[in-house]
Amino acid sequence: TPRDKIRNFSIIAHIDHGKSTLADRLIQTCGGLTVREMKEQVLDSMDIEKERGITIKAQTVRLSYKANDGEEYVLNLMDTPGHVDFSYEVSRCLAACEGALLVVDASQGVEAQTLANVYQAIDQDLEIVPVLNKVDLPAADVQRVKDQIEDIIGLDASDAIETSAKTGLGISDVLEAIVTRLPPPDSGDADAPLKAALVDAYYDPYLGVVVIVRIHDGVLKAKQRIRMMRTGGTYEIDKVGTFNPKLTEVESLGPGEVGYFVASIKEVGDTAVGDTITEERRPAEKALPGYKEVQPVVFCGLFPMDAGDFDDLRAAMGKLRLNDASFTWEMETSAALGMGFRCGFLGLLHLEIIQERLSREFDLDLIATAPSVVYEMTMTDGTEIELHNPADMPEVTKIKEIREPWINATIYTPDEYLGAILKLCQDRRGIQTELSYVGGRALVKYELPLNEVVFDFYDRLKSISRGYASFDYEIVGHRAENLVKLQILVNDEPVDALAMLVHRDRAESRGRQMCERLKDLIPRQMFKIPIQAAIGGKVIARETLSALRKDVTAKCYGGDASRKRKLLDKQAAGKKRMRQFGKVEIPQEAFVAALRMD
Ligand code: GDP
Ligand code: MG
Repeated sequence: TPRDKIRNFSIIAHIDHGKSTLADRLIQTCGGLTVREMKEQVLDSMDIEKERGITIKAQTVRLSYKANDGEEYVLNLMDTPGHVDFSYEVSRCLAACEGALLVVDASQGVEAQTLANVYQAIDQDLEIVPVLNKVDLPAADVQRVKDQIEDIIGLDASDAIETSAKTGLGISDVLEAIVTRLPPPDSGDADAPLKAALVDAYYDPYLGVVVIVRIHDGVLKAKQRIRMMRTGGTYEIDKVGTFNPKLTEVESLGPGEVGYFVASIKEVGDTAVGDTITEERRPAEKALPGYKEVQPVVFCGLFPMDAGDFDDLRAAMGKLRLNDASFTWEMETSAALGMGFRCGFLGLLHLEIIQERLSREFDLDLIATAPSVVYEMTMTDGTEIELHNPADMPEVTKIKEIREPWINATIYTPDEYLGAILKLCQDRRGIQTELSYVGGRALVKYELPLNEVVFDFYDRLKSISRGYASFDYEIVGHRAENLVKLQILVNDEPVDALAMLVHRDRAESRGRQMCERLKDLIPRQMFKIPIQAAIGGKVIARETLSALRKDVTAKCYGGDASRKRKLLDKQAAGKKRMRQFGKVEIPQEAFVAALRMD
């Protein structure tokens, strides 16, 4: 395809503003699929993606569009992942485009993710066309949303396109705007050594790893030997093609084009998003800019409820990793929970998705320990270490400094919820850096320790704002803080699965809370059991579980016989899952419940 007939673009939007529906409309209008194939939203293919309305892997679709000028154009739509955990992938995806459609729900207006995404697009120098979607809704207020786009983002919204992806209104205007308002790709050099950006990769059971690429210089074709400039891997290309949206083989891909290749790459972990692909024999001098290695930022332990499921869990994680190299793990043994894995994730949503897939697709019953962030430590002997698991914390006397990751959080909310939100941020050790009002809404920025956000911050934010506040964050670096390891002792034995790092000022209240909760969760035994929270050797909170009453069912459940039987059955089943702590047995469920925050 001649370069001036190509448009590479992306759709950016806050969740639920209609990105997928609009993409489907564009595909349908350009005739890429039959009506039956259209029944399912094309771009969000995984079940969880569909249910949560987010895209986890980047997807692309090539559309053929005959414009009003009578010419045939190739439009490559690159669908970006829809969540902040995957913001690096989003940036690589946007880097492969020249323009973006900024979709804003005309009945809702600009939201936190709209801002985060549009700033990324502006950073990549993309041409942006604002699209006001859902104008069919009675609550749509086109003028208000145009004003927001101009006042908050600073983009000219006078030429914004009004659409209803639901009814099809305005779709042809969007297609024309893509051709007339977005620029074609920069003139690459087809004769120069190959330079292609690795946008994303996924695992296909038949083809193996499929790599999505954007060609900058040179030509990519079958039989060519290529080299990944960062990872150093070399491969022979089997096939190249485009997404129509079904995979369709082509001879070659040239400058400005977007497509895929297959080259007997074993796992997605062998590819690095943002890498530059070149020819082995005639390599490019310099890699494309912007490469960054993705690092997990949140860790948690995953343990099978039933120790017999350990091998199944390992196998399931291996399968998930085929398609998601950002998910990492190593084996972990916990006295409380048995054998399991310490897993690393890009963020909280990533953690939730993996956990959900393990239980749903592989039918595994899991216990997840409280999520924890990555701490950096400088030791007194000058060495630097990274701590992924509070249970592994070295002796305090050997630590000179502990640093924890901080984030810049952007919260965007109707102003009536502002008071409660400020209090929430303040309670989580937040530092306010910005507060501004735009038309009945408040934009607040806070610096917060990530550690305080991984515990249910997002859920609390949603509940105090009745779902209206939106939230986005980026990690800004590690800061030295007065952090201590809080240990929980049951009958004088420390319980590893309950160890955590907390700020010194919060240790006492957190310790008290854990002790109180455990007192209700651990079944009484024949003797008194002390439950303590301690920092180093010093006990800072204490509860005592009194000795067993005669009849376990008498107290909690009055007279209901069937309930009594259920309880007894449950206890029998629970026996297997008891963990011995010295003389004390603790049901696994107690750990799960104790770790839950509220
Ligand atoms: P995404 O999260 O941005 O991909 O949003 P979706 O495309 O999944 O749309 C979210 C919801 O809004 C779905 O229930 C859509 O049916 C609905 N929706 C999308 N576009 C329109 C529109 O133009 N009008 C109306 N009334 N609903 C729409
Ligand atoms: Mg979607």
